[in-house]
Amino acid sequence: MLNRFLPNENVKSIFDIQPEKLKKRGIKGIITDLDNTLVAWDVRDATPEVVKWFEQMKEHDIKVTIISNNNLDRVKAFSDPLGTPYVYSARKPLRRAFNRVAKEMNLEKDEIVVIGDQLLTDVLGGNSAGFYTILVVPIVQSDAKITQFNRRIERMILNYFRSKGKISWEDE
Ligand SMILES: [Mg+2]
Repeated sequence: MLNRFLPNENVKSIFDIQPEKLKKRGIKGIITDLDNTLVAWDVRDATPEVVKWFEQMKEHDIKVTIISNNNLDRVKAFSDPLGTPYVYSARKPLRRAFNRVAKEMNLEKDEIVVIGDQLLTDVLGGNSAGFYTILVVPIVQSDAKITQFNRRIERMILNYFRSKGKISWEDE
C-alpha cells in the first residue's frame, strides 16, 4: 500500500533532471510542482537557474506545465514570466489536474514525468494517475502549506523507504 507513495526516481533537485536524458527515454512533457520544488515556497520569482532550466527544456521541445495547490496569485505571478502553462488550486493528490494537463499537452502518460517535493501530494497524485514520478529534496524544510500532521506522516514514510534502501538521499 505504501508503494503508492514511492517515487520512480529520487534526485537532489530539478537541475539533476536534464532534457537529453529525458528525451532518450521518450519523455516529451514535464508536470512539475512549484513550491519547494522549483523555488522556496516564499520566493516569488524564478531564479536565473530556474529560468535557464525552463529554456533548456523548451530548446529540446519538452513541454513543461506547473501544477500547484497554491492560489492563483502565487502561481500566475511565478509562471507568467516563464511563459509556461499552469494549474493553480490543483487539489493534488487528486488525479484530475494531472489528467487534464496530459490531455492539454496532447501526450501519452508514459511520455510525461511528474516532479515534486512531497510524497503526499505530488508523488501520490502522479502515481495514482499513472505517471512516472520524480521526488526532489524540498528546497527549504519549512512550508506554509503543509500541516505538521502531513509532515510527520511524510517523514515516517520517507524513513521507511530509506530503511528499505528505496530512497537514497538524506534531507537535512
Ligand atoms: Mg511542493
